[in-house]
Amino acid sequence: MSMTFEINLPRSHTAQFPAQCILCGCSGPTSHVYLLSGTRGLLGWVSWLWTIPFVVKAPACSGCRWKFYVVDHIADVVTILTMVAVLWLVWPHVRDAIPRETRLIASLGLALTCLLPEFALRTRFPDYFCSPLSVQTDYESVDYGFTSEQYSFNFTMLNANADWVKVNDILVHKPNKM
Ligand SMILES: [Zn+2]
Repeated sequence: MSMTFEINLPRSHTAQFPAQCILCGCSGPTSHVYLLSGTRGLLGWVSWLWTIPFVVKAPACSGCRWKFYVVDHIADVVTILTMVAVLWLVWPHVRDAIPRETRLIASLGLALTCLLPEFALRTRFPDYFCSPLSVQTDYESVDYGFTSEQYSFNFTMLNANADWVKVNDILVHKPNKM
């Protein structure tokens, strides 16, 4: 797994993002990217029936924007292409050599093997194959996941006025209520 830095804030808190591009980190970007949250857990998904999906707007330079929408899907495309190649080019040749009763298990094993290139790319080259920002929500909190430690640190500092701030599940800040 690639390293991500998870910052958890109250859902009611409007997160402030550093005036830095979420992709290249340059300061003063003039554009933005938008990210729609997924939700955590089964009940979280059910909550989509009555809650509005959480939208996050993060700064990005106009030159970097497109990468944000593409980068996280390149590895998925690699997996799909690998699966197609394996099922069309490899499986027909090995199928007859495998006993009929173990064919299902063998084909599932082969399908799982197809995930290895994606896993390797995301782990070895997170800058090229992982989204620099991910968002997960539940009823009362939002997890902001960053691949950049420096960006996550700046983000944490900017949002220290929230009711709580957790970094990788550790409560680092909880202001005393007056
Ligand atoms: Zn940029």
